[in-house]
Amino acid sequence: MATDTPAGDGERERADFIREIVAADLRSGKHASVVTRFPPEPNGYLHLGHAKSICLNFGIAREFGGRCHLRFDDTNPTKEEQEYIDAIQADVRWLGFDWGEHLYHASDYFEQLYEWALHLVRAGKAYVDDLSADQIREYRGTLTEPGRASPYRGRSVEENCDLFARMRQGEFPDGARVVRAKIDMASGNINLRDPVLYRILHASHPRTGDAWCVYPTYDFAHGQSDAIEGITHSICTLEFEDHRPLYDWFIENLPVPSRPRQYEFARLNLSHTVLSKRFLLRLVNEGRVRGWNDPRMPTISAIRRRGFPAEGLRDFAALIGVAKRDGIVDYAMLEHCVRNVLNRDAARRFAVLRPLKVVIENYPEGKVEELLAVNNPEDPAAGSRTVRFARELYIEREDFLENPPKKFYRLSPGREVRLRYAYFVTCREVVKDASGEIVELRCTYDPATRGGDAPDGRRPKATLHWITAQDAVPAEVRLYDHLFTRADPGAEGDLLADINPASEEVLSGCLVEPALARLPVGQTVQFERLGYFCLDSDSRPDRPVFNRTLTLKDTWAKLQTKGRQND
Ligand code: ATP
Ligand code: MG
Repeated sequence: MATDTPAGDGERERADFIREIVAADLRSGKHASVVTRFPPEPNGYLHLGHAKSICLNFGIAREFGGRCHLRFDDTNPTKEEQEYIDAIQADVRWLGFDWGEHLYHASDYFEQLYEWALHLVRAGKAYVDDLSADQIREYRGTLTEPGRASPYRGRSVEENCDLFARMRQGEFPDGARVVRAKIDMASGNINLRDPVLYRILHASHPRTGDAWCVYPTYDFAHGQSDAIEGITHSICTLEFEDHRPLYDWFIENLPVPSRPRQYEFARLNLSHTVLSKRFLLRLVNEGRVRGWNDPRMPTISAIRRRGFPAEGLRDFAALIGVAKRDGIVDYAMLEHCVRNVLNRDAARRFAVLRPLKVVIENYPEGKVEELLAVNNPEDPAAGSRTVRFARELYIEREDFLENPPKKFYRLSPGREVRLRYAYFVTCREVVKDASGEIVELRCTYDPATRGGDAPDGRRPKATLHWITAQDAVPAEVRLYDHLFTRADPGAEGDLLADINPASEEVLSGCLVEPALARLPVGQTVQFERLGYFCLDSDSRPDRPVFNRTLTLKDTWAKLQTKGRQND
């Protein structure tokens, strides 16, 4: 089945085991159409792991002509916030998906879920337990030891009904009682040892306010919500495999309107970062990053701020596929997908990060020339622009060395280089300040090389980017590196110890083309020879701030070539 988001490499999505199941269910007539859902808990911002799940669920619905619901699993009011609900919707839309009118909340079903818990109580399949959370844990047993029955397990149906009603009415404090399913305290699957269905929480809920002081657990809400919505394929990550017998038990013991089937896939683990809302929240709360959307974070909103195009993320999801076994994906593979899209789409511009002044001694004072510069060599339709050339320019400080080693071909005393789209220039003199630091280069240019070619056919070994002094706009540029120093952060037990202290470098005094200061936020360009950059939301009209989206170096492609050679 073709998709509308082919991988950037021109690869097509291979059918994975879930798509095969969906296709077979449609072929056999088991389902007339496919209904999936993406069910985030609004207790943090979405990360790249969620992006994989979004591309899978919404992607399947799109490819097979079905639909995908967005459902907030909002069963824990103490951790959930409206800010997260809004951010999640913005992120899913930005990724290119739409739930249409199918926006739901587990809280929409609170009354129904309560009724169903009561249904189990009345059937003698659930009971009110007065044990504390710690005692429940202790009674539950371990993988090798069976659990023990709570002394309250034998309560009569009447007493259970009465206590559950009073729990709902607010008669008891938080933690005083819970409702548990009565399944099997000796089950080899701990999830079946009388799991908690309802707990008391005197907390306001973002949507239901103070209407409730008992809330269903995630396990009790999740499968029943799927059943209410007629979800055909409940796709989730592997850690819920052991919960499937419990979800099936609920479905079998309740008068639900449909029977969803759960399929588990391997969660995305990405090198050099951590995909866990709980840990990311900690980074935010401890002020170790600028916020949830700090461009170093693995959240979707951070990635967007950093300048990654959504298409690059979708391509990445297609390339990694969906498997049944956990593994770790190299972050460089994500960068590779993003770079493919940017290389195709990003306009090329001039910017100088660490400027070194150049004076062209034989260029007339006051003269200014407009030279043609190609906007994107990968895309002829992007056309060209003019850049202005004059007597005073800036080049990159690292493009000059007074005493160059053997393989350094850029500018040095007496050497000629090409200034891109302009002229050949030769360095004649190095000007230093009192401390010996180089502050200026005196150069000459060859007027016959206008546009970048010499009539006599000579070719300098280096072509440099540059910017005219009178046009240059000062800017701040933020360079990013991995948030963690090791590919497997926390492997030695302490995640925080592995945080990369040099994950952000702020450069002030950078110079950019005038048009760059007016670049729309969210549009990523290539600074020639330096990498991909985008305007950051911290910019002010008089002070643009740029994020380095990515460097130009594709380490993943390199690894692939190496791998092939070794085959
Ligand atoms: P976290 O562990 O970061 O808190 P979560 O699983 O608790 O994530 P949810 O809001 O419950 O977050 O997740 C919504 C959906 O996204 C679930 O279906 C979950 O399986 C999926 N998901 C979460 N993390 C990943 C991941 N790393 N890879 C793929 N899917 C994921
Ligand atoms: Mg979860």
